[in-house]
Amino acid sequence: MNVYDSERIVESLSEKGFTESKEMKDSDVVVFNTCHIREKAAEKLYSDIGRLKENSKTKKIVVAGCVAQAENQEIIKRMPDVDLVIGPQSYHKIPDLISKLDKKRKFVETDFPTENKFNVLTKRKKNDKKPTAFLTIQEGCDKFCTFCVVPYTRGAEYSRTTMEIIEEAKELIGRGISELTLLGQNVNAYHGQGYDKKTSNLADLFYELSKLDGLKRLRYTTNHPNDVNKELIQAHKDIEILMPYIHLPIQSGSDRMLKLMNRKHTRQSYLEIIEKIREARCDIAISSDFIVGFPGETDSDFEQSLSLINKVNYSQAYSFTYSPRPGTPAADYDHQLPKEIKMERLIILQNLLKEQQLEYNKKFLNSSVSILIEREGKEHNQLVGKSPHSQSVYFNNVENKSKIGNFAEVHINSVKVSSLSGNIIEKN
Ligand code: SAH
Ligand code: SF4
Repeated sequence: MNVYDSERIVESLSEKGFTESKEMKDSDVVVFNTCHIREKAAEKLYSDIGRLKENSKTKKIVVAGCVAQAENQEIIKRMPDVDLVIGPQSYHKIPDLISKLDKKRKFVETDFPTENKFNVLTKRKKNDKKPTAFLTIQEGCDKFCTFCVVPYTRGAEYSRTTMEIIEEAKELIGRGISELTLLGQNVNAYHGQGYDKKTSNLADLFYELSKLDGLKRLRYTTNHPNDVNKELIQAHKDIEILMPYIHLPIQSGSDRMLKLMNRKHTRQSYLEIIEKIREARCDIAISSDFIVGFPGETDSDFEQSLSLINKVNYSQAYSFTYSPRPGTPAADYDHQLPKEIKMERLIILQNLLKEQQLEYNKKFLNSSVSILIEREGKEHNQLVGKSPHSQSVYFNNVENKSKIGNFAEVHINSVKVSSLSGNIIEKN
């Protein structure tokens, strides 16, 4: 979501004549668009600002994103070189506020504004030549998992209207985008106003988007298990451009932990959802998020996460050690675990996930995979694309026949944990 927000910040600044500079030290303005989800991400901000000030003549420093929202005035107290602190709901104001900054004036904008930023932002001007784009359709969260800062930093759940989303999708398709990833902190909680003025859910939106000429692939992230409904599952059966991949975080395989996390789903209800999704689309790739070392997690709770992973067979997954976040209930829970135990468990869990990911990828050996070519690889003449199941696929661009943005069929002859590679068999 921060990638999307950053693009929109760049686009709105370009209206005022700013261009993106490659070298931070030559910039007139540096915008740090920050993440507050785990402590490490937030701490990075302060070290980055310190380093920037040592080596550069940068004139203005803007701190945007969720660290700005959560720490507001504190940022200027700790880093007096910062000129503007602005939360994720107000970034449309950045161009105007920058023009008002001078040596003595600093601004902190962390109130949730009355106007909706999406109504104020300019049309999409994305021009990085990528064939894929993110599109935020929903923001915020009302679920209040006890470990999570999102409900505090991004605010209440909010969905954009179908009309707005379709307009933005058309703008992006017009700029050469053929794959869209719809974004939301809980994207499947989407409940925006449809064309008929009634509430649309995510599946309704997929059906609308699938009518657009030029849109070849549709993805979405990230989901909450409790918001998976029948229509969403059916959409995976019906809509050809909806890619066979779902990111469905569970966080822990232990019901005791899920309760303490206030997840409002159980291990069993999660497994039942996965079963239904697989009934509808048997080849669907499933990924998840895991937190290890949540306060009070015992060896036996942790083992239940491992046994859940063994039951599900993930194609990929993200995993983190629990990071206490200021202001969230779990940060004050007793029985916080020492770093070493958290790290030990993370390594065990990640090794299991890696094994699964490799096994998953092995299934594609000697088969042909359709990819959308996204970028150049590190090796000479190498291109990289994405498979429908969201794997990175590497191949050699024989006689320079293929181009970024094209689709291609690749015959897979080798696989690793996080990629497939092979030879191009056909260009279309
Ligand atoms: N809405 C999604 C998650 C969004 S946050 C859901 O409900 O699953 C993205 C991921 O960051 C979470 O799934 C979780 O695994 C991780 N995360 C959030 N807060 C965390 C914390 N305090 N410590 C460690 N990981 C955290
Ligand atoms: Fe955070 Fe997701 Fe829970 Fe919302 S549902 S509080 S975004 S983890």
